[in-house]
Amino acid sequence: MLFIFGISPKTVKTDQGQFVCPICKTRSAYEIKTQRNYFSLFFIKLFPVSKPRESAVVCLNCGTHMPKMVLDH
Ligand SMILES: [Zn+2]
Repeated sequence: MLFIFGISPKTVKTDQGQFVCPICKTRSAYEIKTQRNYFSLFFIKLFPVSKPRESAVVCLNCGTHMPKMVLDH
């Protein structure tokens, strides 16, 4: 029997809200996304194998990924 397994990243939305985007200068919605590597078998992600990476803020208006510190302003 052939097993197909590996490590694949999975991005999860951890938070959302409103902010003034420094890129498009508009008040718009954002999502905070965290990426984590999962052990997968037959393309089914079974369990996480790493700690969550630095999460990114994604502007839903222009789609730009930026560091979380933009929310401090
Ligand atoms: Zn934007």
